[in-house]
Amino acid sequence: MSNRRKFIKATTLGAIGASTLVGFKSVEKTDASATILNKGNQTKPLIISTWNHGLPANEETWKNLKNGISTIDAIEAGMRIPEADPKIRSVGYGGFPDREGKVTLDACIMDHNSDCGAVSFLQGIKHPISVAKRVMQNTPHVMLSGQGALQFALSEGFKEENLLTEEAKKDWEKWLEESKYKPVINMENHDTISMLVLDKDGNISGGCTTSGAAWKMHGRVGDSPIIGAGLFLDNEVGAAAATGLGEAVIRTAGSAMVVELMRQGKSPYEACKEIVERIYNKHKNHKDMEYLQVGFIAINKNGEHAGYSLRSGFNYAICDEENGNRMEDAKFKMSWE
Ligand code: ASP
Repeated sequence: MSNRRKFIKATTLGAIGASTLVGFKSVEKTDASATILNKGNQTKPLIISTWNHGLPANEETWKNLKNGISTIDAIEAGMRIPEADPKIRSVGYGGFPDREGKVTLDACIMDHNSDCGAVSFLQGIKHPISVAKRVMQNTPHVMLSGQGALQFALSEGFKEENLLTEEAKKDWEKWLEESKYKPVINMENHDTISMLVLDKDGNISGGCTTSGAAWKMHGRVGDSPIIGAGLFLDNEVGAAAATGLGEAVIRTAGSAMVVELMRQGKSPYEACKEIVERIYNKHKNHKDMEYLQVGFIAINKNGEHAGYSLRSGFNYAICDEENGNRMEDAKFKMSWE
């Protein structure tokens, strides 16, 4: 892991602070072997989310689950935390804009009945996860996009606001000086939050929200709002979610494939690893390979859980009754160097 990455990790964990951790030990754990060997004797609920911002999101979801809120509402509540945090440059308010200086957001949510909702290329609404939930609950559709998604959000009472913070604007202006598009995913210009929950009844739900790849073309939609790519679950089997270069995840229907491998009997770890290997094999001679990073998290019905990434630097937050809310570093195929 690079020093820079370590620094980001340390400061993010530091910023969360003890006062926000209700009833949890928040420990950073670097040995992922416990996850790999996890045999699924899991107490429920179990929450797993991508990246460091998964910690405060998990905490909020946990609190809501314990208060008897529905699993979907608890996921929404958790994901609204990073969406509203201007310091997080890859999700919601404060997220890096596209090449034209516009913050455009993608999100989706899915419940144990396979009901789902999504928004893509949404602008001006701070909480795309909440709009995705309304698409699921209040429309006959699965996905609304762009202007139509905004129109729907406004009709549902959401407020339009400027999501481009001064800091993100400054970074964009700096980027404009060279205008080079080269995603570096283990840093602050990426890092979607995806969350998977096995609730107390043993049902599985999930969500995903992002401002997508920084400096993307205007109109670009990544994997995150696409059911089957950025997120997929089948309540009979398990769930998976992705982070990283969305184009590679879409090309391989990443999350859906992880779930299908678990259906065939693979553990979450084996399934994530196999799909990462597949993505590598499909991209090793591809122009995207130079900066390609993808990471998956997965859980199955027994509460086994895992994460695996192509390159080093991916981590995820796990929360359960027994061990609290903590970070794990994912195993990976190769390092960046
Ligand atoms: N998958 C997201 C996208 O391509 C970004 C990320 O997770 O880092 O938009």
